[in-house]
Amino acid sequence: MSTVGIVGGGQLARMLALSGLPLGLRFVFLDPAADACAAAVGQHLHGRFDDQELLERLADASDVITYETENVPASSVALLAQRRPVYPGSLALGTARDRLHEKTLFGELGIPTPPYAAVDTREDLDAAVAQIGLPAVLKTRTLGYDGKGQAVLRQAEDVAAAWQRLGGVPLILEGFVSFQREVSIVSVRGRDGAMAFYPLSENVHRGGILHSSHCREADPSTALARDYATRLLTHFDYVGVLALELFEADGQLLANEMAPRVHNSGHWTIEGAQTSQFENHLRAILGLPLGSTDPLGCTAMLNLIGELPASSNAVLAVPGAHLHVYDKAPAPGRKLGHVTLRSRDPESLDGGLRQLEGLIAPDGR
Ligand code: AMP
Repeated sequence: MSTVGIVGGGQLARMLALSGLPLGLRFVFLDPAADACAAAVGQHLHGRFDDQELLERLADASDVITYETENVPASSVALLAQRRPVYPGSLALGTARDRLHEKTLFGELGIPTPPYAAVDTREDLDAAVAQIGLPAVLKTRTLGYDGKGQAVLRQAEDVAAAWQRLGGVPLILEGFVSFQREVSIVSVRGRDGAMAFYPLSENVHRGGILHSSHCREADPSTALARDYATRLLTHFDYVGVLALELFEADGQLLANEMAPRVHNSGHWTIEGAQTSQFENHLRAILGLPLGSTDPLGCTAMLNLIGELPASSNAVLAVPGAHLHVYDKAPAPGRKLGHVTLRSRDPESLDGGLRQLEGLIAPDGR
């Protein structure tokens, strides 16, 4: 029986384990939170991602190691990689950790991006604003997620306040894209180089946090998104699930960011695809054959943010609804769970989604 070590013990690690238990896998997680929600489904090593002793213990306990976040220090990955196979590899992780490295690579691989410039000083910021124009988005290069570490600059007066709030760490200024849609492609590559792609997800963010994802089978942008994902998977000699987030604007796809891990916009695959992104990630890192990524009807996912619905009964009474609760303490803006809705046809999906939207917490509206 193989044991999978995961750096991080949040909901992504928990869902990886939930998909791996039927395959006879065991799990061990390293996480600094005493109440890490993956602890319910495996062994929890409680401590920081750079704790040498715990990293050694994680390696000792694991046959293969992966992670649920890109915010793992490079030195920790190097230590683990000396002891056990670590997938995805450190090149993909190091690139995804830094928005500037990520955008530079996209450019090198011919994947279009919004215009951007590196910003380290106030002078850089003024020069970047002059070059890119407004509106624009100022972002921290590392450690940002769910809209954190970002400021939208709409007019010249916003520049000083944004610098005040975010300055002092390496930043990137991006042109603000008036996109028609946000989409993502969740892809997977096995140890043998086999690749598979889920149908495109069409995503709606509110306040920088993912609100909902729709599986879009036969979407006209699929071929281009797959092409871009393929370039990344091949470049990294990648093993595991990789998500690429894209803005669709005026018929173009512009890359926003990539995630070298299972991704929130792929949660619908648990009930909505032949093989979930979680199971396929595990299959990939263990050198097992990849499972089919074919969809199973019309599917959408709604995140539960900040607060859980007052009544699980009401959610589960919606035909085709599946409730996932992560067992995390509620906090504003925190992802506490999600609901997947699977229907036979688009009309019943829309009807069910309207019902669900009425039941979920105000934060998530
Ligand atoms: P990120 O953390 O980069 O994924 O940003 C979170 C969300 O903010 C995105 O999904 C978009 O909805 C929005 N956003 C980020 N960057 C831009 C941009 N350059 N132009 C327009 N919207 C953006």
